[in-house]
Amino acid sequence: MKVHVDMNLCQAHGECVFAAPDVFELHDDDSLTWVEEVGEDRRAAVEQAAQVCPMMAIRLEG
Ligand code: SF4
Repeated sequence: MKVHVDMNLCQAHGECVFAAPDVFELHDDDSLTWVEEVGEDRRAAVEQAAQVCPMMAIRLEG
């Protein structure tokens, strides 16, 4: 599945990092990077991240 983050919405709260630390990474300058294509084994964690994002910035595809 593909992971999209709308960086116009993201406010670097970091909740996604707690939910899926091997997919999302928040840096010292508040920039967020993430794995754009994840396997089925990460689906639950990434769906959890999308749910807890207070800005609803994470969109999953596939
Ligand atoms: S939880 Fe949402 S707002 Fe916070 S860093 Fe992740 S994508 Fe950005």
